[in-house]
Amino acid sequence: MEEDERFSICTECARHQELKKYIATNSTPDCRCALFLQTGYPCCSSAHTPNLENVFKGLIRIYYNEMDYNHHWGGHSSPIALLAVENEIINVSRIISEPTDREPGLELLDHELSGMPYPDVDKGIGIYAGHTDGQQNMLLRAIKDWDAWSLIDLKRNLQKANAHELEASFKDKLAGLIGPCKAVILNGTSFFRARIGFDRIEQEDTWGEDPTPRYVPFSDSDLGAPPPTDSLCRKAEPAGRFLSLCRIVS
Ligand SMILES: [Zn+2]
Repeated sequence: MEEDERFSICTECARHQELKKYIATNSTPDCRCALFLQTGYPCCSSAHTPNLENVFKGLIRIYYNEMDYNHHWGGHSSPIALLAVENEIINVSRIISEPTDREPGLELLDHELSGMPYPDVDKGIGIYAGHTDGQQNMLLRAIKDWDAWSLIDLKRNLQKANAHELEASFKDKLAGLIGPCKAVILNGTSFFRARIGFDRIEQEDTWGEDPTPRYVPFSDSDLGAPPPTDSLCRKAEPAGRFLSLCRIVS
């Protein structure tokens, strides 16, 4: 594909600071911005910086719900419609269209964002949840709106309890994070894939009491990836590949 058929953007047309930084550090000489149609500012093109597409995809994941840009679920036909109006990612006031055969700048970006809708997790960022074994995965939600469950619980509980009553339990939760945050992983540390799950549940003989389940873990050749409902595509654990890691402490 010709270079002027690839998407390019300059630092002036970028609004988000991370996008501006990416462009500034990956700019190429004589790059013509596909949105403002001029040279003169630091600018980078997808022709030379393949990750430009992923920077956009990452920002789309932060700001937008898939339902807003997936027309199968009532949204726009692509995320580009959301970038064509005022937004946090690009400066729409600078977009110029010219009467030529060339695709307008946002159309060029649209082609590139739709080129690989379901990349493997190590190949790029997915902005569509897609399917696993014919089942629709949960639609992706804007990361900026997604609080941890503990925070959601705290907000809910604060509506019906005195904050001082909740303070101790929340401090306990925060205390539990200090250890992992202080952990130092030395260069060269070995990690191994961890597999969790259970093969079956056995009931303990409790002589008439309520039965207590006993979980029998996988073993030997039954060790494997969890079922798709526990391991969805484009999350940390893609279907069929269990990526939770553990370190063997000797
Ligand atoms: Zn520009």
